[in-house]
Amino acid sequence: MIAGADGSDRPERFIPMVNAARSPTFYEFESGDLLRLYREMDNNDEVPVVIYHSHTATEAYPSRTDVSYASEPRAHYVLVSTRDGQPSDPEFRSYRIVDGEITEEPVNVVETYMFSHTGADDVPDCR
Ligand SMILES: [Zn+2]
Repeated sequence: MIAGADGSDRPERFIPMVNAARSPTFYEFESGDLLRLYREMDNNDEVPVVIYHSHTATEAYPSRTDVSYASEPRAHYVLVSTRDGQPSDPEFRSYRIVDGEITEEPVNVVETYMFSHTGADDVPDCR
């Protein structure tokens, strides 16, 4: 997940999440982790801006399960496909999922990303 200031629509804080389902084809956040994370984001006035995962065998398009778990209408749901037989560029797509409705949005890949709190040429803090 990548959190950012509420209302900014800027993903600035990378938060690695454990796949509680421990499955290569299904993911689920652990409820305790999620609760702690949401409290932390609340205290920081943050929201989840990007929620991403990979599909190892299928295209980068939200599955029915992804749609049923999508509870953040303002988040960008990013999907990367690592399946075989693709062109060399990984398939990398972004969606809004609101009330079960999927809307794809354009993705613009950039070399560097300027962060408002640290200045140019920074990379996300990994913790
Ligand atoms: Zn999925």
